[in-house]
Amino acid sequence: MADDYDYDLFTIGGGSGGVRASRIAASHGAKVALAEEFRVGGTCVIRGCVPKKMLVYGAHFAEDLEDCEKFGWSIEGKSFDWVKLRDHVQKDIDRLNGAYTDTLENHDVEIFHERAEITGDHEITLASGKTVTAKYILVATGARPHVPDCPGHEHGITSNEAFHLDAIPERILIAGGGYIANEFAGIFNEFGSKVTIINRSDTLLRSYDESLRDRLLQISMMKGIDFRFHAEFRCIEKLDNGKLKVSMTNHDDMEVDCVMFATGRLPNTEGLGLDTIGVELGDKGEIKVDRFSKTNVDYVYAVGDVTDRVQLTPVAIREGQAFADTVFGSGDPVAVDHSCIPSAVFSHPPIAAVGMTEGEAKNQLGNVKVYISDFRAMKNVVADRHERSLYKMICDAGNDRIVGIHMIGPEAPEIMQAAAVAVKAGLTKADFDATTAIHPTMAEELVLLK
Ligand code: NDP
Repeated sequence: MADDYDYDLFTIGGGSGGVRASRIAASHGAKVALAEEFRVGGTCVIRGCVPKKMLVYGAHFAEDLEDCEKFGWSIEGKSFDWVKLRDHVQKDIDRLNGAYTDTLENHDVEIFHERAEITGDHEITLASGKTVTAKYILVATGARPHVPDCPGHEHGITSNEAFHLDAIPERILIAGGGYIANEFAGIFNEFGSKVTIINRSDTLLRSYDESLRDRLLQISMMKGIDFRFHAEFRCIEKLDNGKLKVSMTNHDDMEVDCVMFATGRLPNTEGLGLDTIGVELGDKGEIKVDRFSKTNVDYVYAVGDVTDRVQLTPVAIREGQAFADTVFGSGDPVAVDHSCIPSAVFSHPPIAAVGMTEGEAKNQLGNVKVYISDFRAMKNVVADRHERSLYKMICDAGNDRIVGIHMIGPEAPEIMQAAAVAVKAGLTKADFDATTAIHPTMAEELVLLK
C-alpha cells in the first residue's frame, strides 16, 4: 500500500479510538502514522476514566475505614494524604502512557508527538512544519470540557486540573449534574471537602431512570453533599484572601475554595483544517459521520467523542476497530451497533444501566412490566449504614423480553456488565427466573425479582 502517498492512514489524535484504529489498520498491513499533541492514551487514560476510577477507589476507603469497627477492626491514627494518592495515580498513568506508546510502536505505527492540521487534499502539516500525505485521514481528536461563559470563569477548574490539585479544597462548588459532577462530588466529599453541586435544572443525570436519580440524590444529601438547582452562574470573583465568591441565579452568593466545571464536553474540531477540505460539522462542532464513521469527504473518517455520538471509551474503541476493519480489512464493512450500550456512573454509590428507562419503555412500548428490588446490602446492614440499593427491571409486557435494567448500589457496574449481555441477547424475565441465585450476593436480586 501507500504507493502514491506517504502513508495509507494518518490518524490525528492518540486516544482510545485513534490508537485502536491505528494499531488494527497497521495489523492489516497499512502504513500508519499518528499525531498526538499531548500524551498518547487520550482523555480516558490520561485525565478521565482511569485516574478517576483510581480516585474513586481511594475515596471509598473513607467509608470502609469508618465501617471497619463494626467488623471488629480498630485502626489508630488513620489519616489521608492527597499528595501521596495523586502522585501514585500519576505514576500509573505514566506507565499506561508508555504501554499505549509501546503498542503503537510495536505495530510500526509512526508517532508524531505534535499537533497536526489538514492543509489540503490528503495533506497533513505537522507543527514542526513537516508536510505528509495520506490515502485516508482519521480524525480522533476527542472532546474537551465545556466552560460556561460567565465573568470570572477563568478562576474555575475542570476535571483536567482536578487530578493535579496541590491540596483537597475545603469547600468546592461543582457545576453540572451529569457524570463528572456526580462522580467528583462523591470523590471530594469522601476526601473531606464540603461539596455543593449547582445545576441549571433540577434534573441530575438526565439519561438515567428517574428512580435511580432520586435515590442517588437522596443518598448524596445524606452523605453531606449540598445541591442547588435552577442555578446558573452570574459571576465568579477572586477575593483578596484567594477564595472565590460565586454569584448565581435563584440562590445566595457562596464563598468557596474551588469551582469545578462539569458542564458537558465539546468536540475538538477547531484548528484541524477540516474546513479546508469541506468536512461537514454539526451544531456543536461535532464531525458528522455515517454508520461506518465516514465523513462527507470520501477519504476522511472520524471516531470517538469528536463525533459526539456516544461519549464513552468502549464505544470509541469499537468505532476505531470497525473503521480499521472496514477500510483495511479483507471482509465486509463493519458498522458499530450503538443500541443497548451499558453504562455506569462511578458515584458513591455507583449507578449502572442498560437499555430503556421506565419512561422510555412506556413511551415506546406502551405496556410494560416493572420489577423492583429495594434492599440494604448485607455489608451496609452490618455496618449500620442506612443506604439502600435499588434494582429495577423493565420488561415488554407483550413478550416478557427485558428491555432495561437499572441499578444503584455497591458494585452495580461490576454486576451490570454480565446482566447487559442478557439484555443485549434479548433474554426474558423467565430466563432470569430460571437461573439459580448465588447466595448471599447483591446480584442474586436480579434473578429473584417478583
Ligand atoms: P454530562 O452531559 O453528563 O452532564 C453535563 C451537565 O452539565 C448536565 O447536568 C447539563 O445540564 C449541564 N450543562 C450542560 N451545559 C450547560 C451550560 N451551558 N450551563 C450549565 N450547565 C450545563 O457531561 P459531563 O461533563 O459530566 O461528562 C461529559 C461526558 O463524558 C458524559 O456525557 C459521558 O458521556 C462522558 N463521561 C462518562 C463517564 C462514565 O462513563 N462513567 C464519566 C465521565 C464522563 P442538562 O441536563 O440540563 O443538559
